[in-house]
Amino acid sequence: MKKITENLEILTRKNPCDGCPALCCKIQILPCSQPQTLIDVDHIKYSLLYPLTEFIISKTGEFSYIKWGLCSLLSEKNCSCSVYGTPNRPLKCVHLDPNSCWYKRNFFEDTSSDICRLNLERFNIWFEKIIFDEKGTIKYLPNFIETEILIQGISMQPQFKLKPKLKKQVVE
Ligand code: SF4
Ligand code: SF4
Repeated sequence: MKKITENLEILTRKNPCDGCPALCCKIQILPCSQPQTLIDVDHIKYSLLYPLTEFIISKTGEFSYIKWGLCSLLSEKNCSCSVYGTPNRPLKCVHLDPNSCWYKRNFFEDTSSDICRLNLERFNIWFEKIIFDEKGTIKYLPNFIETEILIQGISMQPQFKLKPKLKKQVVE
């Protein structure tokens, strides 16, 4: 009984953000609609030509661009949100639950497959499988599972190297 209480105490004291390189403040998520045409797909290719940009396909069917960069409200002194607890903090940040945070497991630990991340190399493989009609409308787009298989074995540079010293404080 004592052991369970001790374990519970450790678990409730443990902050899931400890040691995380503050990914939620280094990744800008830009949701977009599912590509419908050759022009849409070409726009993905164009965007991936810019550094620190990725395109992601989520398991739940959403599409987004992501841009790596520090939020201007992140205090680099202590790696914390400078508007924490104020109305200036975006609701997206307020409602992000660190206990079910998907950033860490997908971009840092690489232990989950909630998303397929595409850089230009992965995009080119994905692109080859898209089928268009004669007007440039997409007739077939690889889904999440198909994309996951297509990009297997093509590694991506870990972008969290962006300011690696900027990490949430580890509480012992
Ligand atoms: S664990 Fe998630 S919520 Fe916590 S700092 Fe890291 S990315 Fe942000
Ligand atoms: S507003 Fe605060 S919590 Fe949200 S991304 Fe910026 S620094 Fe992070």
